[in-house]
Amino acid sequence: MPLTFEPTVRDTVILGSGCSGLTAAIYTARANLKPLVIEGHEPGGQLSVTTLVENFPGWPDGVQGPELVENMRKQAEKFGAEVEMGHLVAADLTKSPIELNFGSKVVKTRTLIVASGASARWLGLPSEQSLIGHGVSSCATCDGFFFMGKVICVIGGGDSAMEEAMFLTRFASKVYLIHRSASFRASKIMLDRAMAHEKIEFLTSTVVEEVLGVEEKEVRGIRIRNLESGEVREIALSGFFLGIGHIPNAKFFEGQMDLDDEGYIRSKDNVFTTLNGEVLPGVFCAGDVQDRRYRQAITASGSGCMAALEVEKYLEEHGR
Ligand code: NDP
Repeated sequence: MPLTFEPTVRDTVILGSGCSGLTAAIYTARANLKPLVIEGHEPGGQLSVTTLVENFPGWPDGVQGPELVENMRKQAEKFGAEVEMGHLVAADLTKSPIELNFGSKVVKTRTLIVASGASARWLGLPSEQSLIGHGVSSCATCDGFFFMGKVICVIGGGDSAMEEAMFLTRFASKVYLIHRSASFRASKIMLDRAMAHEKIEFLTSTVVEEVLGVEEKEVRGIRIRNLESGEVREIALSGFFLGIGHIPNAKFFEGQMDLDDEGYIRSKDNVFTTLNGEVLPGVFCAGDVQDRRYRQAITASGSGCMAALEVEKYLEEHGR
């Protein structure tokens, strides 16, 4: 079906301003498509809450996460991308052009890239929140290196927590694995491996009441409570890692595109969105919102690039 080309209809809108969305913006802006990037409640995505990123190619001395994502944004804007704050109130993906309602305005677009990311699940303790980046982290791959020879803990009882705990034994002198339940969701093989590791000590039926170190602005320990005995005690440590899962920011599209049982977009070829297994015309996805497996800045950027190239191809095929 040929697309309408009214001047008020945009060529592409990108939902999300993390590294997948901004990479998509750089590519589509350089293709002269003047993308509109919508940034939501976490501008810059997960990178904006990390500290030093040492594994993004091209930065031999590392780069601060917020600086990296700010540079991506500048690069996208240099080529004509517009970045605006917005919260989707309603969307109709079946319409052509696609209609996106942001409350204060309705945007019509020929294509959409959903790059709304996934948010780490936090415990929600005020002390935990205020120490993010100061010893509290939700990304072992990103921050593990800073805890060489230190005592740390990992919270959770699933595969993520086991994987993080195992990974962190490369750096830490000791890892406490703290789990609120008595049984585990982790697969047997990963659980057995973690349990057999000499550096990992398991504390089950245990909840964290507070992360200590708010005044010092650096994690110095935790206060925990055993749910069976009621015993409360403090443990001195320097790193506090969350491994209690991620929440993909795709709930909004429930019923409008296929999501998997955990709410991630069920993408085709890691870039096309579908509804009842059929590709949704003009609606693409990128980054963590469709990737529960890798969740790295570089893979998210790569996937933003893929979505942008598909947008160009789609518009070209439809006579743009
Ligand atoms: P899961 O949902 O499997 O596990 C989450 C864990 O966090 C549970 O043990 C849960 O406890 C705990 N938890 C959740 N909320 C809280 C809270 N508020 N306070 C304390 N604890 C909490 O998530 P994962 O991220 O571990 O795994 C997600 C998927 O990804 C799974 O399918 C997993 O197999 C897969 N995965 C695979 C890997 C691999 O194969 N290499 C690596 C990582 C993940 P409770 O049990 O008490 O509910």
